[in-house]
Amino acid sequence: MPELPEVEFAKRALSRWFKGHKLVRTEAEKVRTFRDSDVGIFAALKGSLTHLDRRGKYLSLAFSDKLGFVAHLGMTGKFLKRPKGEEVRWSRARFFLDSGDVIHFQDPRMFGFIDAVPASELANRPAVAKLGLDPLVDTFDVAALQTALGKSKRPLKVALMDQERLAGLGNIHAAEALFRSHLHPSRTPASLSPAEWKALHKAIVATIQFALDQEGGSDDIEYVEEPGAKNPFLIYGRDGTPCRKCKTLVKSFTQAGRTTHFCPTCQPLHPRST
Ligand SMILES: [Zn+2]
Repeated sequence: MPELPEVEFAKRALSRWFKGHKLVRTEAEKVRTFRDSDVGIFAALKGSLTHLDRRGKYLSLAFSDKLGFVAHLGMTGKFLKRPKGEEVRWSRARFFLDSGDVIHFQDPRMFGFIDAVPASELANRPAVAKLGLDPLVDTFDVAALQTALGKSKRPLKVALMDQERLAGLGNIHAAEALFRSHLHPSRTPASLSPAEWKALHKAIVATIQFALDQEGGSDDIEYVEEPGAKNPFLIYGRDGTPCRKCKTLVKSFTQAGRTTHFCPTCQPLHPRST
């Protein structure tokens, strides 16, 4: 499931693909990918890419004709570049380049969306305007993290996933950051010591960087949909298997409707000293 690192990687791929090329025309399927968006605006998109931005899990693109769109990859969305004429399964929207290549917005489950708007409205779209601190875009230090999360009364992992506080972390990378910082997912922000805030900040940076390094090589991102043999994560999806650090069996429980994975030894709920 795409979170900040995967969306950042999609942004970098789009930047490479549009570089030196013009968008000639677009094509859209009549599916819920477009929600209430003005499909007429999407159909009119053309020209060179003048703006490409990622904030949290949202991408904003604008073209020289002063039109643009906000895209969210949802659960299964991704951008792919293919030669013209090649059929792409679950392609919901297509961008035809003057090179002959076609960029597809592929989304089997259609939880992702494209919201086409005049370029001047991109930053004001409600979903984007409400986003909190972005660890790659904004100044992201311990104090900024503490300000963003500090007043939340919710469990730490739920607070980390609150896009209006911190933009970009989802179920996977929030769990990874908590494991790296030895913090139990049910701790509250108010309970963290200065040393723990520092550790959490460092862990978030490391988690994002690790994921970006993993994605670095290829244009097509393969998301890990189900935890399995090729699970690249430290804690996510590892319940019932020995912790990679201490060999205690990894546990899971449900938090705000999502499965949370943690190590009871490495991430105690009541640490001896904080
Ligand atoms: Zn452990």
